[in-house]
Amino acid sequence: MHLRKRVLVTGGAGFLGSHLCKRLLDEGYDVLCLDNFFTGTKDNVLELLDNPHFELMRHDVTFPLYVEVDEIYNLACPASPIHYQHDPVQTTKTSVHGAINMLGLAKRTGAKIFQASTSEVYGDPEVHPQTEDYWGHVNPNGIRSCYDEGKRCAETLFFDYHRQHKLRIKVARIFNTYGPNMHPNDGRVVSNFIMQALQNQPITIYGDGSQSRSFCYVDDLIEAFVRLMNSPDDFTGPVNTGNPNEFTIKELAEKVIELTGSKSELIYEPLPSDDPTQRQPDITLAREKLGWEPKVQLEEGLKKTIPYFASLLG
Ligand code: NAD
Ligand code: UDP
Repeated sequence: MHLRKRVLVTGGAGFLGSHLCKRLLDEGYDVLCLDNFFTGTKDNVLELLDNPHFELMRHDVTFPLYVEVDEIYNLACPASPIHYQHDPVQTTKTSVHGAINMLGLAKRTGAKIFQASTSEVYGDPEVHPQTEDYWGHVNPNGIRSCYDEGKRCAETLFFDYHRQHKLRIKVARIFNTYGPNMHPNDGRVVSNFIMQALQNQPITIYGDGSQSRSFCYVDDLIEAFVRLMNSPDDFTGPVNTGNPNEFTIKELAEKVIELTGSKSELIYEPLPSDDPTQRQPDITLAREKLGWEPKVQLEEGLKKTIPYFASLLG
């Protein structure tokens, strides 16, 4: 009998989680997708529900979980500012209690465990581009702190479980990623701009649009996740995963207008507090250790993403 590896994906019904579940099924894993459906939806995994090797479970990672698995991808956590600021205490609990519960599960089962960390651990960075050895510039009590500090504490827990209990850990620091299955109302810049452009509504630029981000297409990111999980045990990360091509928010708005043929105008709104002014991953480590770099550049990725949002509008 061929024994399939059993993998748990927390936050599996979310944007990144749904792509990861699909990829792991394609690779022959038995996939247990766990989600409390706070920001994720069954729609994201609808096409997987008929697959006998896929199982969908409603559960909140802030509560303990007893299942038998070989690998764990811990993605559960709202990722967009409006979602994670909706209930900030729950956001920190999800990162911290969620990490403790999933690490406890990994300890009991001996599973290898992956953590979806974030570029937000660098805060509003004073080092550019960001390398993994930079400790960050993070406000501990601002409106983004529930997310940033929660994710930083989760990293601490991962490394302490590794040092103290010899757990096999894999920590990826994810930079801004976009693609199909993003929540249309998550307030993130790519989803906002495409939805606004498709409806010929004004494109809302916060601040003067000179702040920058580096946008990674989802397929490239998922490739990095799988390579990291399969890398030798002595490589724990943290490793930056993202696309180093940096754009200003105004450039992104203009590109979206061009690709959608929209009549939208640009409007300027106040910049939210603690909004990082620039962000770009240094991916030297990922290139070296995982042989990975993104292949899909912004225009191509936006062309793959726009039809998804158009389909939501009917
Ligand atoms: P998402 O909001 O689409 O997905 C998160 C999923 O976690 C959702 O399905 C949500 O319902 C679920 N969830 C939230 N709280 C939970 C809880 N307590 N118990 C169980 N499930 C819970 O966001 P995403 O973009 O897919 O992000 C996935 C992970 O990657 C997150 O941990 C996020 O912090 C991280 N990340 C994403 C990005 C990005 O650009 N997309 C960047 C950095 C880090
Ligand atoms: N942003 C914007 N208009 C929007 C949504 C976001 O100008 O409608 C800006 C936001 O202020 C930030 C950047 O786009 O500077 C990226 O925002 P997002 O919420 O996508 O991600 P994060 O700030 O977490 O990188």
